Amino acid sequence: MSHVELLEREMRAAARTITGCPLSTPAHAVMAEAGLMPVATRRDVLAAKLLAKAHALPEGDPLRAPSAPITICSDSQSALATLREGPASQKTLLGAAIWTELAALAGPSRRIHLQWVPSHCGVDGNERADQIAKEAAALPQAAVPVDVATAHRAAVRLTRDRTIAAWPEGWYRTLMENRLPPPAAAGDRSSAVDVHQIRAGHWSGSRQYLHRIGRNPSDDRRQCPDIDCAAGRCTLCREEADTPRHFFLRCPALMGWRLRRCGTIFPNPEDIRDDGEVAALAAAVRDLQSRTATPR
Ligand SMILES: [Zn+2]
Ligand SMILES: [Zn+2]
Repeated sequence: MSHVELLEREMRAAARTITGCPLSTPAHAVMAEAGLMPVATRRDVLAAKLLAKAHALPEGDPLRAPSAPITICSDSQSALATLREGPASQKTLLGAAIWTELAALAGPSRRIHLQWVPSHCGVDGNERADQIAKEAAALPQAAVPVDVATAHRAAVRLTRDRTIAAWPEGWYRTLMENRLPPPAAAGDRSSAVDVHQIRAGHWSGSRQYLHRIGRNPSDDRRQCPDIDCAAGRCTLCREEADTPRHFFLRCPALMGWRLRRCGTIFPNPEDIRDDGEVAALAAAVRDLQSRTATPR
């Protein structure tokens, strides 16, 4: 397993924790919900960014002085740990390539320190590098043979497009067209989890979903993916599967709720893009479900 794959696995585990999405949710949807781009695509962006910063250093910059020790800061502990194992222990082409660059940079006598820094903590050098990159972008184009800032932006855009293209089809993706899901702005942790799960299409408040993954067995079957299966029918209206789309657009039991929230009993899909609406719907459904489940 390559280091990128290892990192990918760690990031996915983190994304599941952040979003509260269950294991059955596709990796891509969970990553998108957590606002994380896949590691393999982020690698390209980081490479472009570092290159941009290196190219943007002016002549006479202390970092270009031939003998001063070089400190390389990174906010990635795992990347630093991997590099610290030394040139002979690198198991990936990327790791080996970085070590080749480090050796060329150090020459025979220069020391290089690899230093971990928390991300966005206002470290002087980092702020300065950002500043320099910005200034470089503002220079007249004739003075800059390679417009690195533009190259960097292009890499970011490309990565974003690739990420969106690989985002699996689903009702929420259709709703968002070519945008990635925004961070869940819903109030507390449990409503944020509801928002992430609903948008990722794996919501634990849906009986149809639970039946599909085997956590809501019916009398005759442990689980099935059939959208028309009786075990997955909405407990409020019994008309069809209790998918998010059903609650948002069709369920008669939520007509009054939709009228109050959206001013119509048949809202357009665009009216329910907002997380506030998603969170409010989840709360309304859970409330109605618990009331209908209470024996009286
Ligand atoms: Zn079934
Ligand atoms: Zn219903």
